[in-house]
Order: sequence, then C-alpha cells, then structure tokens
Amino acid sequence: MRGYWRGAAGWLALWLVLTVIAAGAFGTVTALAGLAAWLLLLHVRQLWHVDALLRWLDQPPGTPVPHGSGIWAEVFSYLARLVRRQRQNEADLRSALERFQSATAAMNEAVIILDELDRIEWCNPSAEHYFEIDARRDLGRQLTYIVRQPQFVEYLDEQNFAEPFVLRGARGGETTLTVQLVPYGNQQKLVISRDITRWERLEAMRRDLVANVSHELRTPITVLAGYLETLNDQEAPDPEFQRRAMELMTQQTSRMQNLVEDLLTLSRLENARGPSAEQPVDVPRMVQGLHQEAVALSAGRHQIGVDIDAGLWLTGAEGELRSAFLNLVTNAIRYTPAKGQITIRWRPTQDGGGAFSVTDTGIGIAPEHIPRLTERFYRVDRSRSRETGGTGLGLAIVKYALSHHQARLEIDSEPEQGSTFSAIFPARRTSPAPVAAAATA
Ligand code: ADP
Repeated sequence: MRGYWRGAAGWLALWLVLTVIAAGAFGTVTALAGLAAWLLLLHVRQLWHVDALLRWLDQPPGTPVPHGSGIWAEVFSYLARLVRRQRQNEADLRSALERFQSATAAMNEAVIILDELDRIEWCNPSAEHYFEIDARRDLGRQLTYIVRQPQFVEYLDEQNFAEPFVLRGARGGETTLTVQLVPYGNQQKLVISRDITRWERLEAMRRDLVANVSHELRTPITVLAGYLETLNDQEAPDPEFQRRAMELMTQQTSRMQNLVEDLLTLSRLENARGPSAEQPVDVPRMVQGLHQEAVALSAGRHQIGVDIDAGLWLTGAEGELRSAFLNLVTNAIRYTPAKGQITIRWRPTQDGGGAFSVTDTGIGIAPEHIPRLTERFYRVDRSRSRETGGTGLGLAIVKYALSHHQARLEIDSEPEQGSTFSAIFPARRTSPAPVAAAATA
C-alpha cells in the first residue's frame, strides 16, 4: 500500500506541475478546467470499478473475479488470490471431514456429536445402529428423546462424566452399551459408545463357572473330609465302616477326577480355533469300538444296535471326534432305563455329508430344556446326572468338538419317549474310505 501512496503522490505531483505549466501556457481557467476533467474521469473510473466489485459480491460463490485497471487490477487480483486460498481451505477441510467420516464409519464404536443443548449434530453409522437413530430424521433431536432411560437422563444432567454410563436393554432389550461422554469446545459433547453385550455375557459365564465348579467340588470334598475325620477319631475302626468309607471316598474321588478331566478337555477345546489335527479318520472303525464300549457300559441292561456306512470317513481330529461321540453314547446309556433300546448310526446325509446319531428310548427331554443343554453344567435333572456320574459338561464338550469340524448338533427328543442326538458333518469334511479299509470292512 505504501508503494500505492508513493505512485499516487507522484501522479498528483505530475498533474499539479502540468496544471501549473498549462496555466502559464493557456491561462488558469483552461488549466483548472483540464484538471477538473481529469478528476471527473478518475471518479467515473472509480465508480465503474466499485460497481463491478458490488456486482461480483452479489454473484453466487465461484463467479470469476472481475478485471480492473490501475490500482483496481491489484485489488481484484488480491481478491482472486483470497478466493483461491479460501477454496483450497474448503477443499482441505472437506477432505479432512471425509477422512474423519470414513474413519468413524469403519469404527465399531458409536460416535455422536451433541451441541450445547444435547441435540444430535452428527453421528456415525454404528451410532445409528446401536441407538436406532435415523440420521435424516433425528439430527437436531435431543439424545434423551432417543435414549429415554431415566438413569441416562440423570447421568447427562449431573455432568459428571468421569465414569462411563452402562446402558442396558438397548436395541430392543438384548444389547448392553457403555456410553462415555467427553465434553469439548463450546459446551459440546462427544458421545462414544461400545457394545459390551458379549463381554458381559463372558463375564457372567466366568462367574457362573467359578460358582458351578466350587459347587460341584463341595459335595465330594465334604464327603471325603467327613469320612477322614471319623476314621481319624476312631481308635479301632470298624472294618465294615472302613470298607464302606473307602468305597464312597473312591467314588467321590473319581467324580472329582472326571470333573477336572472334563474341565481340562473343555478348556483345551475352547482355546483352540479348529480341530487339533486334520487327518483322515476311520469313523466306521471308531463307531464299531464305541458300540463295544456301549455294550460293556450297559452291562446287559439295554439292547444296543448299530448301523454303519463302512465307506464313509471324515477329516479332522480323531480324539476330539471320539470324545464327542462317546459322550453322546454314554448319555444315551445313562438316561435310558433298563430294557431300553439304543441305536448308534453313522450314515451319509443327502447333501454328501455324514451324520453320527444316537437314538434311545430313554427318559427324553422337555422342549424348553433343549436349547440350553450344551451350556456348561446345565442339567435337566441334577441328581440323576450326578447319580450316573455326569459332570454336566458332556454336551458342552460335544458342541465345541463339533464346531471345530463345522458340524452341528441336532437334538430331537420327547419326554418319556426317547431322544436322538445327531452330529451332522458337512460334505467338505467327509471322504470315501480308502480302498484297502473298505475291503477289510
Ligand atoms: P451330564 O453330565 O449331566 O449328562 P451333559 O452335558 O452330557 O451333562 O448333558 C446335559 C443334560 O442333558 C443332562 O444332564 C441331561 O439332563 C440331558 N441329556 C443329555 N443326553 C440325554 C439323553 N440321551 N436323554 C435324556 N436327557 C439327556
């Protein structure tokens, strides 16, 4: 600008000198008239540029800056530079916003921005999902209109956001969310929410497991401690009592042993992502062996039949499969009264897979229990399970072993009529028996 003043002062001085010279040559009036005409011209030019500027300001953004001459050329080019810079800033901001939005869109966490009156300004897709917000309909609505739980309203009012709020019963009742509020800027708030339903369930399962295991161990330990104390107190123990005590103590010890073994098997299966091996498994031979074991376990109390497709093998971990199948067979024996019938089958399915099933004519299961049978320690009849040496973990083991092989457990049962437990394997797990094995069979 200083340069501009210097230029303007130069022009003024030049015109004054010219006016003085003209006054000398043509007379003062002519010289002043010339100066007036020049000033008028200058004024008109200024007006023309001001008009161009005003018209440009009135145009929608993006209209090119007008051209000018003299100092106006500089003003307009300065404006054009400003506009270019502003556009660049806008583009930078837009791309930063897009990056922020695509990053938050990919997040599992819900993110909501609230204004100073707790109205929703913006939210990401997870927030729409968790809080059932419709971004088009609910922007501008207060969050408490969407989350109406009185405790949440109180939490917002109290303005103490050190601890997250645990919102139970979200999304129609099934989901638990943690909601953390972070105040920022001009009384705005960032809401970050996480789905902790799975974590809560796991936490509850962990608590239940500890409680269940302690409960399961308490009875055998009490029995052992009781007998040991009595035997200790007796100076000359009665041989008959001693024999009975030994028998019961052995029984309780084996119960604890079974429980610990099942817990270890379960934890091994739970920790593994897939089967412990991927080998061809001669299922027909395995089922023959299981049949013999079943006959021995039943000790003549049941009729046990078998129906095996000798040409059908599986790929997977033999130990895991055997443990799953054996659990189903022993359950059938334990829950079928004497004279009942048990049939063990290994047959192909229609879609090229394989099905191992155990059908019994036992006590059966009421429909409301069926979905929960594979839960750890879930038993329909606690005392019957214990009397027959059950740990309540058998079907949980079956479930994990099968899921490692992408197989599913189907349970078909009717109280007092009997049950069929089937392990259904997909076609990609089955294979024809090698020629030599099929010939032997
Ligand atoms: P448990 O050691 O108690 O048998 P499982 O996990 O093997 O534990 O089975 C869970 C429950 O399922 C059993 O307690 C029993 O109530 C029921 N159940 C399993 N198999 C049968 C069956 N074949 N007939 C009737 N009830 C069964």
